[in-house]
Amino acid sequence: MSEQISVGGTTVDTRHWIGGRRVASAATFTDVSPIDGAVLGEISRGGAEEAGAAVAAAAAAFPAWAATPRERRAAVLRAIADGVDKRLEELAIVETLDNGALLRSHRRGVMPRVAHNFRFFAERLEGLGHDDFDTRGHTNHVSWDPAGPCALITPWNAPLMLATWKVAPALAAGNTVVLKPAEWSPLTASLLAGIAADAGLPPGVLNVVQGYGAEAGAALAGHPGVRRISFTGSVPTARHIAAAAAPNLTPLSLELGGKSPLLVFEDADLDLAVDLAAEQYDNAGQVCLAATRLLVHAPIAAEFTRRLTERAEALVQGDPRDEATGIGPQIHPRQLEKIDGFVRRAVADGARVLAGGGPNTALGGLYYRPTLLTDVRQDSEIVQEEVFGPVLTLQTFDTEEQAVTLANDTRFGLAATVATGDRARAERVTARLVAGTVWVNCFFVRDLRAPFGGSRESGVGREGGDWSFDFYCDLKNTVSAP
Ligand code: NAD
Repeated sequence: MSEQISVGGTTVDTRHWIGGRRVASAATFTDVSPIDGAVLGEISRGGAEEAGAAVAAAAAAFPAWAATPRERRAAVLRAIADGVDKRLEELAIVETLDNGALLRSHRRGVMPRVAHNFRFFAERLEGLGHDDFDTRGHTNHVSWDPAGPCALITPWNAPLMLATWKVAPALAAGNTVVLKPAEWSPLTASLLAGIAADAGLPPGVLNVVQGYGAEAGAALAGHPGVRRISFTGSVPTARHIAAAAAPNLTPLSLELGGKSPLLVFEDADLDLAVDLAAEQYDNAGQVCLAATRLLVHAPIAAEFTRRLTERAEALVQGDPRDEATGIGPQIHPRQLEKIDGFVRRAVADGARVLAGGGPNTALGGLYYRPTLLTDVRQDSEIVQEEVFGPVLTLQTFDTEEQAVTLANDTRFGLAATVATGDRARAERVTARLVAGTVWVNCFFVRDLRAPFGGSRESGVGREGGDWSFDFYCDLKNTVSAP
């Protein structure tokens, strides 16, 4: 078995990265490209032993990194960002081969954002204030102390972007980390370890353990030496992680799934509204924030439906490395089956297929056609459960009140999008929506200074801006007599 594999011309080490060294496990798992089923390599499959070794390495490296002046930590983070920029093309290609998302998005959107994650938190760290105040002549001095080793557990749909969204603030705050990437997209985390080491990050400050969630992930979540767990992934896994963390009372940040609505009012710019709806097929629908429930005002529903159906059918599906491709494959056969199961059951339950409705038989493999369903009941599975594929449902409403009621009738609360030409309506409606992020006449516009997270079952806590430092730090108030 080779520990160095070549992926799209880039050499990737398939072992863990623990204490500044590559460490192999006897067991491995196979990493397969969703584009064509090609085997990319055998990856070290960590468990309790490797997780324990990584937490020990992170604990050993913690005092020195925590004591490193902020400016120096910020400088290392910026050097990591420069390293990402330098290897942007390689990272984009490896990520596309590994998770099947569009190469052009990786090149132009995702990987630049990875670098931005590091630069943003470097800058934010330097500006992090001390909130000092006086109590009867005594000074209260609030400090942001690093918490210790953090376990960061991440999904496959935007692997490096979501990993660095956690790694960057955790490291900036002076913590050490153990990153456990998803087993369906393990490769760019390994490249990140090399980039960080080249940038001067000391050994043990960033560790990467590869493996399955139920093995390496569970071992990290239940490890008593871990001071923070930040998890992005599904609700069922979050429950396992919360249960594993409970005996140690390890603080958790959970960024979970969604079933977000797009509300389209009769006064909306229809071209824009159709664009916003079509955007929900991005990344083959594997986007936590995707507005998969289209709620459309009855007077414009027929025209909106006609235009969106055309758009869905015109989407070019194929190899995500081709510039012309608009929608690539799903990540894994299990996901394809899961998505198709949702659609079949919805149809059996009375849903009408306006576009797509099954795998792309011309392409074969993991390609699922962009699907639009209507005549769906509000309490049906297809409206209530996260599909995590290119499947949108379309429902109509008659009144603003009804639109808000439908939008909020979900156990999720990650995001919502409103299309309307009436500012007053936008204010009324957004005030009533339960969601961590609400977009008005736009979608996916993200500023890292903003809080990010979900309400209800979509998450616990917020990251972004100083909220990330709130989570990754132990805030301390020191009261000094005059
Ligand atoms: P998942 O929950 O199956 O896996 C996520 C990670 O958890 C993987 O690294 C996995 O190995 C690990 N894991 C699995 N079982 C574990 C256990 N028992 N203990 C510890 N770790 C374990 O999620 P997924 O399928 O990889 O990702 C898709 C989900 O992620 C969707 O629900 C999506 O909405 C959500 N997501 C949310 C956000 C957000 O920011 N809110 C962003 C992206 C994805």
